[in-house]
Amino acid sequence: MTSEPGRSTINIWGGEERSFQDGSTQVPVVHSVSFGYPDLDSWLDVALGKADGHIYGRNTNPTVSVFEEKVRLLEGGEAATSASTGMAIISNALHAILDPGHKIVSVKDTYGGTSLLFTTFLPRMGYECVLVDTNNTQAIEAAVAEGCDLLYLETPTNPTLKILDLERLTAAGHAAGAIVMVDNTFATPINQSPISFGADLVVHSATKFLGGHADALGGVAVGRQDLIDQIYGYREINGATLHPEAAYLLLRGMKTLSLRIERQNQNAQMVAEYLSGHPKVATVNYPGLKTHHGHGIAAKQMRGFGGMLSFSLGNNLDTVRNLLPKLRFAHMAANLGAVETIVGPPATTSHVECSAAEREALGIPEGLIRYSAGIEDIDDLLSDLDQALEGV
Ligand SMILES: *Cc1c(COP(=O)(O)O)cnc(C)c1O
Repeated sequence: MTSEPGRSTINIWGGEERSFQDGSTQVPVVHSVSFGYPDLDSWLDVALGKADGHIYGRNTNPTVSVFEEKVRLLEGGEAATSASTGMAIISNALHAILDPGHKIVSVKDTYGGTSLLFTTFLPRMGYECVLVDTNNTQAIEAAVAEGCDLLYLETPTNPTLKILDLERLTAAGHAAGAIVMVDNTFATPINQSPISFGADLVVHSATKFLGGHADALGGVAVGRQDLIDQIYGYREINGATLHPEAAYLLLRGMKTLSLRIERQNQNAQMVAEYLSGHPKVATVNYPGLKTHHGHGIAAKQMRGFGGMLSFSLGNNLDTVRNLLPKLRFAHMAANLGAVETIVGPPATTSHVECSAAEREALGIPEGLIRYSAGIEDIDDLLSDLDQALEGV
């Protein structure tokens, strides 16, 4: 009797079977740009999509294909395709699926780069983008009901950790005939499966938790075959191809995805609870806290609450400037989801692309600190925060 393998098993084995050569037990990094054929007919079969194979490295590559297949299995979608970065897969997906004149509904709290697509670049090209208050589910439903071609969701959001109701909003999107696309970067497929709630497309910045070691950029989309075909067809010509070396690093990182996420979930929960009880801390945003606005929905749709939180000591960048360098076990850097704890304010991380006025319009406080919990010993993370807070 065979059953579907679990997520930890997919981390290790998923998608790898076909790539082993000459007894290798690890996926080879194939650097070859082109792929040769012994005769014209077998070459033509691959070119026409009648047989599996690779032709040219901008289009497909064996190492990259294994990475796509592993993420596809984890997200439970029909098909997957990749791009050189998270922003590349998001922008390529939007351009591939939509035409000028189409309407996108999304929320104010999407990742800074995505938000700039919605506020600046896409409107300039004739797309209509409506951004709704993230915590107002009824307002999102109302905007979608007025006509919507694509509903773009991200949950938990970056950096304020707001939660969107995936089941309810996906139903609203489909009722309006919209495609529903979800950025699952913060949750990871270990904690949340948007396709199980009906989402048509899931995208990731693989740079973050999937890779997990802050040493490779990448983006990936999983979902309906027809949509993935369109995204692949566009990305192939757009040229933002994932490099095979990066695909290998992402694959290697993904071997420990479940282990890392379990630890990051635990560490983030403990840090959030510690900060909530600290007299100098004004606010803590973490969906695992019972006091969090979206805790109930998060508990319903997530298997774990994730490794990301944010907090503030007040709305003041000087306090942030003072506090962060005191932390011994945290990089001050514009990244998240790595094995090391990483901290930074939105002004230099998620919303570095936005001006202070744009951040204010998006409701992102300047004094907020984004905290990406690593896999260190929790006692060290807590005592580190303790001594740093003592000093401010
Ligand atoms: C980082 C990030 C992106 C963009 O990914 P890159 O790999 O940096 O291009 C998109 N969405 C979210 C939620 C992110 O955190």
